[in-house]
Amino acid sequence: MAEKALQLEVVTPERVVFKEKVDFVVAPGTEGSLGFLPGHVPLITSLEIGVVKYTKNGQQRKIAISGGFLEIKNDKIVILANTAERDDEIDVERAKAAKARAEQRLASRAPDIDLVRAELALKRALARLQAAGHE
Ligand code: ATP
Repeated sequence: MAEKALQLEVVTPERVVFKEKVDFVVAPGTEGSLGFLPGHVPLITSLEIGVVKYTKNGQQRKIAISGGFLEIKNDKIVILANTAERDDEIDVERAKAAKARAEQRLASRAPDIDLVRAELALKRALARLQAAGHE
């Protein structure tokens, strides 16, 4: 394929989660969804907890991320995130359990609940379920 492509790399402090050439990327920017095609201007932006979508050979795949940063330059995208999981490695039962736990905490309204922490845990679980196609 002689057409232009994007190199997409998703990296956490622990590992390289994804490193491949792709055709199109959509990322959850903190100020809205961002789409990237080859030839995009250089940019650094922050990302929310959510799902990175990429298209390769006409097929869309997903990666859940817990927020982070994205840099694009010379048709190379680097996403740095604290945690990230490819759609094929997400443990759906674990994410469902995390979602239920977070929802219970939020519903309990107990005085010792850290609401922000529970909301973030819920968002991570929802992103994982969405990436795995279980939402
Ligand atoms: P849990 O309560 O299930 O641990 P969490 O949101 O608190 O969820 P994190 O602290 O974000 O978990 O992640 C800890 C590690 O576990 C990271 O390496 C992350 O990639 C991995 N991880 C978390 N949930 C899943 C999942 N459902 N499937 C696969 N890996 C996961």
